[in-house]
Amino acid sequence: MKATAKLIGIDPGHGGTDRSNHGPTGYIEADGVLDISLACRDELVSQGYGVIITRKTDKTLSLSQRAAVFNKAGCSLAVSIHTNAAPVSSIRGIETIYSILGGTGKELAEVLAKQLKNDLQLTIRRIFSRESEVNRGTDYYGIIRQTKMPCVIVEVEFHSNPDAESLLKDPGFRRRAGISIAKGIIKFLG
Ligand SMILES: [Zn+2]
Repeated sequence: MKATAKLIGIDPGHGGTDRSNHGPTGYIEADGVLDISLACRDELVSQGYGVIITRKTDKTLSLSQRAAVFNKAGCSLAVSIHTNAAPVSSIRGIETIYSILGGTGKELAEVLAKQLKNDLQLTIRRIFSRESEVNRGTDYYGIIRQTKMPCVIVEVEFHSNPDAESLLKDPGFRRRAGISIAKGIIKFLG
């Protein structure tokens, strides 16, 4: 398959009525991840890939709506882009999450975490999958559970950490993060 025939799904998390996740000095996750996602899309498009993005503006979308966009378009893989929060402000690092059901999501999660680590000089905190405690045998995370293609959640950094928040507030960092995720996707597709 030609590179241009691969359709890549990019999902900027949150947005619209869902704007409450924020850092200590004003970073808003919904806005930060939109910038990162748009930079990721632009890089993929410039490299000849087709991209389906769930939102280009500050818009409300349910997890089911996001997954349906990717499923209907027949995306080869999907990446949902977020920034993280923890009750302890010292916690930092990249986290990527893949499906419990196997497939190539784990490899994609590893490639994306390593690419971000190398390009942005960050540390990797966790690369993991999580099973639903309610519906055993299914994924805990809705976007991973409801998508039919390998889908990975990327948590670029913890906006609850003041140093990471100041990085995330920097438009240049957001752009570099988006380009890094695109590079990881391209590397994964080989
Ligand atoms: Zn999020």
